[in-house]
Parts: sequence; C-alpha cells; structure tokens
Amino acid sequence: MTDFYGTSYKKNMRILIDMWKKTGEPMICPQCGGSMTIVQIEPVQDIENAYVPYRTVVECNSCSFKVEAESFTILGSIKDFDAEHVEIGSWSPSGSRVLSKYKHILSYDLLKELKKTGELVEFLIVDKQVVQVIG
Ligand SMILES: [Zn+2]
Repeated sequence: MTDFYGTSYKKNMRILIDMWKKTGEPMICPQCGGSMTIVQIEPVQDIENAYVPYRTVVECNSCSFKVEAESFTILGSIKDFDAEHVEIGSWSPSGSRVLSKYKHILSYDLLKELKKTGELVEFLIVDKQVVQVIG
C-alpha cells in the first residue's frame, strides 16, 4: 500500500489497462481466470483534477491477485473523439461546465453512437484513461 505512487503502481496500472483491453467487461483474473471486483476505497488528493479520484483496488474473487489504481467517474456526453482521445462535456462538482480530453480504449461504434445521441452517460476513468461506459 505504501508504494501506491511508486514503480509498482505504474506496473499495476499497466496490468489493469491490459485486462480492460483484453476483456472489455467483466474483467477476468490473469492468474486464475476468476471474476474480478472493482472496489473504490478512499478519495485521493489531486488539485489539478476537477473530479475526485479514488484509490481503487481490483481484486479477484477466487485467488489473492489484486491491483491498485486511481479512478473516478464523470457524468457527461461525448463532444468529439478520434482513435485515441475522447472529449467529454460535463460539469464539475462545483457546477461549472468542463470539457475534458482523455485517452480511451472504447469501441468506435460505441463512441459514434454516443456522440450522435448526445446521451448523458457515466464514464469510468482509470489512470486518466477512459476504460468503460457505465449505464
Ligand atoms: Zn484469481
């Protein structure tokens, strides 16, 4: 836990992002193939972020495998996107409008559909990368 921001944090993040890329959802444990649960634990201080990131643990339900990350969610709509980045229009907790640009691993079809409809959805962002659309 003490090396959350150290080298093992970065390594863990790569594992986590790889898992998302491979499986989409739900995530599968790379050690035993069991299902994994995402647990957000406590807020992390980050003054440059309009949102509140949480220390997050993704743990296997069957074995002892777990990785730690930093994650947060944004309720917003897709303003624009390309193969690497998405622009999300949303509101900060203080109520001001925010346009944020993030890397993403979402499918082109999903992004195209969301941009067309302008639908408000919740984006899960892990390590400043949009990994999933919730609901
Ligand atoms: Zn496992």
